[in-house]
Amino acid sequence: MSTYWSPVVHSLTPYVPGEQPRMANLVKLNTNENPYGPGPAVLAAIAAANNDDLRLYPDPTALQLRQTIADYHGVAADEVFVGNGSDEVLAHAFGALLRHERPLAFPDISYSFYPVYCGLYGIASRPVALAADFSIRIDDYLDPAIGAAIFPNPNAPTGMALSLAEIQRLVAARIPVLVDEAYVDFGAESAIALVKKYPNLLVSHSLSKGRGLAGLRVGYAIGQAPLIEALTRVKDSFNSYPLDRLALAGAVASFGDEAWFRQTRAKVVATRETLIRGLEGMGFEVLPSAANFVFARHTSGHAAEINANLREKGIIVRHFARPERISNFLRITVGTDEQTAALINALRAARL
Ligand SMILES: *Cc1c(COP(=O)(O)O)cnc(C)c1O
Repeated sequence: MSTYWSPVVHSLTPYVPGEQPRMANLVKLNTNENPYGPGPAVLAAIAAANNDDLRLYPDPTALQLRQTIADYHGVAADEVFVGNGSDEVLAHAFGALLRHERPLAFPDISYSFYPVYCGLYGIASRPVALAADFSIRIDDYLDPAIGAAIFPNPNAPTGMALSLAEIQRLVAARIPVLVDEAYVDFGAESAIALVKKYPNLLVSHSLSKGRGLAGLRVGYAIGQAPLIEALTRVKDSFNSYPLDRLALAGAVASFGDEAWFRQTRAKVVATRETLIRGLEGMGFEVLPSAANFVFARHTSGHAAEINANLREKGIIVRHFARPERISNFLRITVGTDEQTAALINALRAARL
């Protein structure tokens, strides 16, 4: 603390990212990174961009990347916003789109960056409890006291997805709706299909999970042009160049290698099913996952002990001590088949 801090800094409760330990031979299943990483086309594009042009600023409008993403999703370039990770895209959306009179609703068990952005921008928040089965109940969001809504689809850390028809019921209420599709590549239906019809819908995507590029920091949002213009106005009041030349080159190349994307995604989805069967075989209850992680609790309880036991064996998963309702769950990223086997063997040896 310091007397030089502004009042808002005093009031912040910053987000705490999952740890990135520097240990050799770690089985790292704690932050939902993709075990396969970028394909050779992406690495070649980044290498080719690593040249004397780095003395020049990148394109502040990132037009080539926005056009590439627009073509990929069948929208127009002025319906695409890009940023330094989808976290930055979401932050700008909070600043650009959310009014401050009525609260922003989001699930009480969800991505913990949402309340952090509310704190940063002075936006009132309204956590909405998940149903008993941990699903999002859209009816709870159709309350006129709510000014806007955000949720991940699939939700994190549950991994559970909502259908497009359910999402449409909320979007039809005409409040701003942000659908955070960080994990959509692994199974859920994308709400991008609704963008043409609804001027109040913004859908965010990340290259960190499905495209194995967490280290490159690229995310984007799709919405009708006036919403994108709002985000661009905020971005151009903050940082003209959030994406550097290497990130732009790598991201464009990622959309050019559909085969790599599909193959690695299929492997993750297949391993997810192996992981779920392995966990269920040992007495875990696993929530239905449409993501590249599973959320599971053992019938004996003791998630904290299981977490500590795995850690001693060099296997890192994520345990949330709070809220109470999820304190007996572990969130486990889907890794390679070898990593999954190491996890299952370690759990078996622990004789739960
Ligand atoms: C990982 C994640 C993000 C952020 O992704 P980046 O593009 O890496 O910033 C956003 N939302 C959810 C729900 C996530 O899990």
